[in-house]
This record gives sequence, structure tokens and C-alpha cells, in this order.
Amino acid sequence: MTGTDKNPQPRKNPLLDPDGPELGDDFLALCGERNRCFVERLRGEEEAARGVEARRLHRAEHPSIGVLAIQGDYAAHATALTESGAEPREIRKPEQLTELDGLILPGGESTTILKFLEKRGFFAALQEFAKEKPVFGTCAGAILLAREVLNPPQRSLGLLDAIVERNAYGRQIDSAILTAETELPGGPLEMVFIRAPRIVSTGAGVQILARRDGAATLVRQGSVLAATFHPELSADRRVHELFVEIVKAAQAR
Ligand code: GLN
Repeated sequence: MTGTDKNPQPRKNPLLDPDGPELGDDFLALCGERNRCFVERLRGEEEAARGVEARRLHRAEHPSIGVLAIQGDYAAHATALTESGAEPREIRKPEQLTELDGLILPGGESTTILKFLEKRGFFAALQEFAKEKPVFGTCAGAILLAREVLNPPQRSLGLLDAIVERNAYGRQIDSAILTAETELPGGPLEMVFIRAPRIVSTGAGVQILARRDGAATLVRQGSVLAATFHPELSADRRVHELFVEIVKAAQAR
């Protein structure tokens, strides 16, 4: 088409015309350097967008859940998370929290973990993290989440409206494997207790999902989950699956 045509047809842009030619290399060679660069940039952008979308979909299906890996049984939590459909990450620095959709504070010795958290600016970072993202504490982790800790009193994150007493069971029964009724679907739940704390009282917003001798052992307050036992040491994955569901629901918000 030239400028001298009487009734010029609107010019079609071959790059945008769905019925236009395949944009093979021969065609691009004919189009000249400028168009070739343009198409290559478009292709690159499309590919990058597809990559970002694929990663977003993957992460929605398999959320990235951190396990505080300072001390204690974090490796067993990582296995339980993988088996529950999440992607576990070992976390040792507060900067790593930004990569996560949720976090587990594992069992261990709460005083040791607390000292570590207080030294690296982790303590405040965790409190900030929990405003946006779900957190799950098991045993020592549950102690760290509590509003108040007894026997002896120690500082805690105050993310769970509960009072928790450390080493609350006498020497003979402080470590035990018990099976008890639970609010989780699927029948009774095995609970492995190791020098376990006891949840002495809970606030009105705290849901009790399992008990030992009347005292709450598995509780949920919104996107905060806490167990005084070690679900990562049982073959039953219902507790970790619940946490993964809580994380997915928070992602979708
Ligand atoms: N007894 C420990 C504490 O008080 C908790 C034990 C555990 O995490 N298994 O911190």
C-alpha cells in the first residue's frame, strides 16, 4: 500500500493481527532490526509473566512455611509440612521472614529459643510477622506464643490469649503418648508430650481443639495455632494439614 492509493485500507499491524503470519525468524528478519527487538521484548515479557503466574499458582497450592531452625525438632516439622503439601524453609534470620506465608515455632527449650530471639531483633520481627501471617507453636513454641508464662514467668510474644505453665506435669508423666478426642475431623488424635507445658486458661476468642485431663492441648485463635504436644512426631498429619489450610486461607484474603 502506498500514500497515492485513492481508498487506502487501514494498515494492519502484522505483529498484532491474529490472522497474520507466524512470527518466525524469517519473518522477523524481513521486519528489520527494530521490529525484531520489539517482538523479542514482547516474547520476553510474556514469558516472564507466565513464570510469575506459574510461581504464584504453585505457591497458592504449596505455601512457603518457615520453621524456626535454631534448636529443637525443626527437621521433623519440615517433613510433616512437606507431607501436608507445603514447602518448608528453615529460618535462622529475621530477614528470611519476608519469604514466608506462615511460620512454625517448634519445641525445644523455650528459654534458649527466647534468648536467641531477643538477641537478633527476631522478637519484634515475629510480632510484626504475626499481624499478617499465620503462626503455629508446638510445646516450647506454644510457650513463646502465650500472653503469659508461669513456672517461672518469662517473656513471651503475646500472640495467643492464653496463660501457659511450663513443665506442668510431674516427673513421672511429663513425657507421655496419649490418644484423646479432638474437634478435628477423623477421630481421636495421638499426642506426644515431652516435658510439656499446660495451658492454664484461655481467652474467649480461643477455640479448644483437643484436651488432656480437661486442659487444652491444641488451640486456635484466628490464624494462631498452638499445641502443647509434638504433632510432628506422630504419623497423623491432621494438625499440620490444618495449619497449611489456615495459611492458604490467609493467602487468599
Ligand atoms: N520444657 C520445655 C520448656 O519449658 C518445653 C519442652 C518441649 O518443647 N518439648 O521450654
